[in-house]
Amino acid sequence: MGKWVYTFGDGTAEGDASQRNLLGGKGANLAEMASLGLPVPPGMTITTEVCTYFYEHEQSYPPELEAEVNAALDQIAASTGRTFGDPKLPLLVSVRSGARISMPGMMDTVLNLGLNDETVLALAENAGDDRFAYDSYRRFIQMYGDVVMGVEHKSFEDKLEAMKEERGVDLDTDLSADDWKVLIEDYKAVVLAESGKPFPQDPKDQLWGAIGAVFGSWRTERAVVYRRLHQIPERWGTAVNVQAMVFGNMGETSATGVAFTRNPSTGENQLYGEFLINAQGEDVVAGIRTPQDITERARIEAGSDKPSLERSLPDAFAQFKDVCDTLERHYRDVQDLEFTIERGKLWMLQTRSGKRTAKAALKIAVDMVDEGLITEAEAIKRIEPASLDQLLHPMIDPSAKPDQFAKALPASPGAASGEVCFTSAEAERLAASGRPCVLCRIETSPEDIAGMHAADGIFTTRGGMTSHAAVVARGMGKPCVSGAGGVKIDYAKGTITAGGVTLKKGDKITIDGGTGEVFVGEVPMLKPELSGDFERLMGWADAKRRMKVRTNADTPHDAKTAREFGAEGIGLCRTEHMFFDPERIMPMREMILADDTASRRAALDKLLPMQREDFTQLFEVMAGLPVTIRLLDPPLHEFIPHTDKEIEEVAKALGADPEKLKNRASALAEFNPMLGHRGVRLAITYPEIAEMQSRAIFEAAIAAAQKTGAPVVPEVMVPLVGLKSELEFVKKRIDATARAVSEETGQTFTYQVGTMVELPRAALNADKIAEEAEFFSFGTNDLTQTTFGISRDDAGVFLGSYLKESIIDVDPFVSLDTEGVGELIKIGAEKGRQVRPDIKLGICGEHGGDPNSIKFCETVNLDYVSCSPFRVPIARLAAAQAALG
Ligand code: PEP
Ligand code: MG
Repeated sequence: MGKWVYTFGDGTAEGDASQRNLLGGKGANLAEMASLGLPVPPGMTITTEVCTYFYEHEQSYPPELEAEVNAALDQIAASTGRTFGDPKLPLLVSVRSGARISMPGMMDTVLNLGLNDETVLALAENAGDDRFAYDSYRRFIQMYGDVVMGVEHKSFEDKLEAMKEERGVDLDTDLSADDWKVLIEDYKAVVLAESGKPFPQDPKDQLWGAIGAVFGSWRTERAVVYRRLHQIPERWGTAVNVQAMVFGNMGETSATGVAFTRNPSTGENQLYGEFLINAQGEDVVAGIRTPQDITERARIEAGSDKPSLERSLPDAFAQFKDVCDTLERHYRDVQDLEFTIERGKLWMLQTRSGKRTAKAALKIAVDMVDEGLITEAEAIKRIEPASLDQLLHPMIDPSAKPDQFAKALPASPGAASGEVCFTSAEAERLAASGRPCVLCRIETSPEDIAGMHAADGIFTTRGGMTSHAAVVARGMGKPCVSGAGGVKIDYAKGTITAGGVTLKKGDKITIDGGTGEVFVGEVPMLKPELSGDFERLMGWADAKRRMKVRTNADTPHDAKTAREFGAEGIGLCRTEHMFFDPERIMPMREMILADDTASRRAALDKLLPMQREDFTQLFEVMAGLPVTIRLLDPPLHEFIPHTDKEIEEVAKALGADPEKLKNRASALAEFNPMLGHRGVRLAITYPEIAEMQSRAIFEAAIAAAQKTGAPVVPEVMVPLVGLKSELEFVKKRIDATARAVSEETGQTFTYQVGTMVELPRAALNADKIAEEAEFFSFGTNDLTQTTFGISRDDAGVFLGSYLKESIIDVDPFVSLDTEGVGELIKIGAEKGRQVRPDIKLGICGEHGGDPNSIKFCETVNLDYVSCSPFRVPIARLAAAQAALG
């Protein structure tokens, strides 16, 4: 029989920070803070195991749960001197969810639970403040009605707006206690009308209703979507935290806020946060009122005329600052905190590791190493490799003189241009058809997650740096500008207006999430500068990693970019990409149309100098490093036209008979070209193609070495090999070509011949193939395709359903299937090494840039991974993390 409830408060706790799986992140950290002696309102955590039980038992609870909850309530009562439902000293609680990993805005919160028509009188009397008590009660009905009873939030808002209009006031705070009393009756009527049930008056009923709602919210559509996007397993479940209420809305010496111990956007070591005087919990993040800065420094920087916490409540601020320092030192990481000040007394409601931008993450990690708080290895492990992508994002060209549309908060860095759109669904539609877009919203809510994911950038007119939009965008690495107060969005008309300029849906807009600027139209962008922190951290990573990182590059431009990002060679140059140039495609087509070897050779002779020039340039960029060049791989029909009109044009340009071209096209057509006449099979039917390409490679190697003085070692790679004899056949011709070039030029050079392992047969017979091959490169795109028997071209049609139905957790073309494809790699690597212990092993499929796949590559001791240029830094870091284990 399990223990289902853990209590905390008064300097002790039954749980601690290590129990995050059981208590959820929030519960575990509340327990830890209580044990540290920090001011935490007493409470209890109902474990995630109850959530699991709930869903395994038709939404019912373990039989012991009620007694455990009651015992914990007694303990809270003893600590606070208040009792649930007591007409004199009523206990009020908050009920919040808390999963293992924070899911911002996904789960629901109820505050002020325990209020009813009777206890509200006691609250008013104890506080000596009617207005506060009735404001709290109406908030409770609103939140409870919305979250637990399914009454639309808007129904309450409409009543509130009507009341404000009637009284002729703008702010909630201008309404009196009597106004709230009237509104409370209105709210109760709304609840009855919309849910068919009266608002519950018994605090125990209220509590169990709220607990059920939190567990229920684990399975809401938006929570499910969020988990899918973040690969959070369904079975984790959420905990429920029930905690004695403290009030930030008890007048001018009360406040509530959120803070980060360091700036989450830049990483600067400065306390950073926002608060509201006389407000309750959700007001700050909901973005309804624009919050104030916590520190005086931030207030001055922002040019705000609203007083900082440092000035308005200096004692509470000083205490808060101490708590921040204690927590940061204790957790050795940046903390994201929620607090409430009730009549000058500070209470901590939450601490967790702060989400941060990639730029901030780097600066914080490097600073913390310098401060002696963490080691270099820890710093390396703290950076999510994929997040480096954010740093490689383009930024607005400083020489551009764009039209400023608005300026607001720089909520998440990076710049983005795209069409203005106003709904999540529109953003998804535009993204699906490849049209960049900026999602413009008054504020965002968790329902907008999918649209935020699809959009290139996010722009909101309400809310601060900790609003939903800002927090979620930073997590996603999406550029975001928020809190543009002067900008008006009209959803009905589909317009956005600022300073007299109106943009319509579909107009182009550019946002700069690093400065908070918004521009009309599409603004030119620049490649990003990588900071000193980046260099230092990558330096530490390079020192720790064992695997080399190469790049997949076909052009000198890509190769140059990759080298700047730290690539240590080329792992895959796909030569077919060199034939699509307008001046080359014609001789290529001539070659394909040729009737005999002699005329094929004549066409290839035209291609040779071009190909040689390509390789020479590539070798010059990669001077001194290894370069793997793959012989022609795709089926030939990819190079010839298919429609009648195109055939006509091409035949004319070639001076050939259109009929002949048409016949050739239909002769080359295949039902399944992915498994067809491609790869090594081309070199076997047309060896002269392989000979031309090898010659171009060797002549280029000589030419580039003479220019740079730093020869590359070309690695000639034969694709799609399944048999040793296939490789033997081609290798013989490559070697003969090398000898010929050497004799003709009088130059010697070093080269290697190897193969791609992209067929199961190759992996299973790697020992035999290794007798011929000096290196293997695992082509995991094709190897995934051929292992699963799933076509790379068409898999999208059904892989979506596989993911949705949890038949697979990740797309195997994105992240390596370690059980199947990985097993083949393991066999291939072992068998290859048995025959040739020094065989060079690498990976050049898309997986070479995926951190989880890279982790696997480390376990089978590959020598290098190869990935696209922009993923080279990601792979360097992931390889270091893999080596650190
Ligand atoms: C592969 O199959 O993994 C590979 C790198 O080759 P391509 O993607 O060009 O087929
Ligand atoms: Mg391939």
